[in-house]
Amino acid sequence: MGTTRDADVLVVGAGPVGLLLAGDLAGSGAGVIVLEQLSAPTAESKASILHARTREIFAARGILDRMGTVPDGGRGHFGGIPLDLREADPEHPYAGQAEYLQSRLEPVLQDWAAERGAVVRRGHRVTALVRQSDGVELETVGPDERPRRLTARYVVGCDGTRSTVRQLAGFDFAGDSATREMLRADVAGIDVPDRRLRRYPRGTATSYRRGDGTTRLMVHARAATPGTGRPGFAEVVAAWAQVTGEDIGSGEPRWLDRFDDTRRQATRYRQGRVLLAGDAAHAQMPVGGQALNLGLQDAAALGPRLAARVSGAADDHVLDDYHRERHAAGARTLTNIQAQSLLLFGGQEVDGARDVFRELLDLAPVRRHLARTISGLDTPYRPPAERRSRSTPSPQESSTMSRLTGKNALVTGSSRGIGRATAVRLAREGALVAVHYASNEAAADETVAQIEREGGRAFPVRAELGVAGDVHELFLGLEQGLKERTGETTLDILVNNAAVTGVDGILPEDVTAEQLDRYYAVNAKAPFLLVQRAVRNMPDGGRIINISSGLTRCAVPEQVAYSMTKGALEQITLHMAKHLAPRGITVNSVAPGITDNGGAVFDIPEIVEQMAQSSAFKRVGEAGDVADVVTFIATDESRWITGAFIDASGGTLLG
Ligand code: NAP
Repeated sequence: MGTTRDADVLVVGAGPVGLLLAGDLAGSGAGVIVLEQLSAPTAESKASILHARTREIFAARGILDRMGTVPDGGRGHFGGIPLDLREADPEHPYAGQAEYLQSRLEPVLQDWAAERGAVVRRGHRVTALVRQSDGVELETVGPDERPRRLTARYVVGCDGTRSTVRQLAGFDFAGDSATREMLRADVAGIDVPDRRLRRYPRGTATSYRRGDGTTRLMVHARAATPGTGRPGFAEVVAAWAQVTGEDIGSGEPRWLDRFDDTRRQATRYRQGRVLLAGDAAHAQMPVGGQALNLGLQDAAALGPRLAARVSGAADDHVLDDYHRERHAAGARTLTNIQAQSLLLFGGQEVDGARDVFRELLDLAPVRRHLARTISGLDTPYRPPAERRSRSTPSPQESSTMSRLTGKNALVTGSSRGIGRATAVRLAREGALVAVHYASNEAAADETVAQIEREGGRAFPVRAELGVAGDVHELFLGLEQGLKERTGETTLDILVNNAAVTGVDGILPEDVTAEQLDRYYAVNAKAPFLLVQRAVRNMPDGGRIINISSGLTRCAVPEQVAYSMTKGALEQITLHMAKHLAPRGITVNSVAPGITDNGGAVFDIPEIVEQMAQSSAFKRVGEAGDVADVVTFIATDESRWITGAFIDASGGTLLG
């Protein structure tokens, strides 16, 4: 405070990543200067593929509307094996890939960022970086060759693979140097057949004619060792001839470029007040556009967090969160690209691996998984509107935002109904949610997809409850899912929601011993065993929430069998609350009344009207009405409630 600075944030690099970051920061009220050594936006083709998550990011900021026509980018591939990226999530509004040249994208982003208040200074080269106690100073050389000094609270290097910021700040850039290279060129005046990543004995080649009459060529000659600097046209002509046997020497080169399979990643994306994003943080072969998209997604993850830090609404943890989230995403993408580049550019020695991958890619879950990874949909993303409104909260608001960040939750029976609504709400509060189901895999996947569309994190876990070994099976899947995502198996929140429900009811005189056994096994015995098992993974302060029913407090004879089991469930609450209190774990029962769970009966207006009469509010409950109560009980705000029966029936029990 008190120190005069040139900006809150200096962004180095006015490529797409730097511009997106600058626009987000400026739009949130931060003072931003972007320093770029090039004097004008690139006129080069460079990257052109935009994936689903990136377009979602652009759409949420109104950038997509400024882009004019965005042509479909075709199907996509994994290591040259066709893969339709729409399979990542057919419901996603931007599923698939689009093609939009970087030379068109940069001016759009620059205008957008400038309108939001970012200052873009071109022709400025960074020459030194000095850390100060409460900021960072950059020394630059401007177009007039005069040295200047600029200070800011934070500096972000978005200055590409050879990042000056990364080098000056001394970031560790760990990984492997290149072993293969690819030459790229846009060439006019040639007529060669289109082909997509075709493998030849001596290499791999791609060519396709663009609308403007130029042909985009990409060629990898297996015998070549990676070169440096821009290739000459003669080098491209020779490589093309060597691999394909075709002569393109009569063409006129418009753009020439070289890239390789260098694989490096900054071990930290943040060092104090200096951060990295995009290619400055990770170097990789730009297979299928993943490099640009990864960088843009870094920017979208950093902008709102850094804005919150600058405004004082958040502490340094948000910046560490950025590192954690995007370093993990980058590492995953680099691994994915490494596998693809092996399949694409390897010789005969990878033929077997290619055959196996081809077989695997016949399987829908494999296609979906890879398409989600490539599309960036496997990493959480919170749309900016929500974030922006949360990035400058009042102190009171800030204590209630993302109340479950860092918590892991299991919601049994969350493939649909109240369980699904609960899973979605817990994820909105920041929890990583295990979506448990018995048989309805598609419904569980939809719950996970809904959570991920909203930027949350979830994974499905299958296990039928009420049968031998049920809890063991559930915990195998649960612990594996948690371990993969968090490195640990901590379970902070257990919601015992799954149940055999008494939809039709059975008159007391008709109830059979088998029916009683089934109700008891699923609705009472399994929840008890789940509590018993879960507390081994539960830290102090954990939450156990048992979904009971208003039917334990009012008489409906044809629901006696079902209600008996809910009565038993409430006994678990009572006794376990006392037992677990020394560890600060609370155990409560939440009792819904008639709640629309999406079942067929809720489509019949007359019956809904009749059911609505039971609530004091004269409507049936929505799944979200109950889920909101459960979510509150899951937060720290409910810490003084344990062993309670919480009526979430909309006043049904008032009589
Ligand atoms: P629902 O729509 O019928 O969904 C039941 C969920 O439980 C599904 O995810 C289902 O998974 C899972 N499930 C059922 N049997 C299972 C088993 N043997 N093993 C593992 N999972 C199983 O349920 P809901 O109506 O939302 O009810 C949720 C909770 O609220 C239940 O405890 C219920 O008793 C209670 N409740 C509901 C109402 C109401 O009016 N809806 C009223 C009072 C209390 P699959 O789909 O994969 O089979």
